Amino acid sequence: MPNRPDVPDLTPLDAQFAMIIAMTVRNAMEDFHVQNLTDAQMAELNPIIRNAIATALHARTNILHHRAARDFLGFQERLIPNYWEAPELLDDYLESWEWAAQHPQHEDRCAHCQRVILDIGAAGKPRWIHLSADGGTNVGCRAASFEPARGWDESLDRKWKARPVARGRSV
Ligand SMILES: [Zn+2]
Repeated sequence: MPNRPDVPDLTPLDAQFAMIIAMTVRNAMEDFHVQNLTDAQMAELNPIIRNAIATALHARTNILHHRAARDFLGFQERLIPNYWEAPELLDDYLESWEWAAQHPQHEDRCAHCQRVILDIGAAGKPRWIHLSADGGTNVGCRAASFEPARGWDESLDRKWKARPVARGRSV
């Protein structure tokens, strides 16, 4: 169905995130699905969940500039019953935190500054960025070291860029 002219498109980011959240919901429902729902019912439920999540993300993205988005989210919020418990994190997810805490050596670190780095490049074309001290991301080692209270780490060369410690692969 084409969007009405005055409805902004669902952004690719919101569309992708709706898929990821819908998969999280689907996986969290797995036991319930097995016990209570047929595969056909689950197949019917999946797009309902996915589209509802996409709608809420779209409304959040457009909330500042579009009254309809504000009204929609405000209405949903007013419907939340006071007996709903506060959300909690899933056990599977918490276990992945425990695993990561026990295996810090599995994080890639920069050969220059030892900060944790991520490869955000496409397949076969690595592109490394630091997880910066201020919570953002930076390619440059010195830029990544910036903290509002302390400034930059002047011991880091301005030319250094995120580079993984060699692990037997070319970088
Ligand atoms: Zn670095």
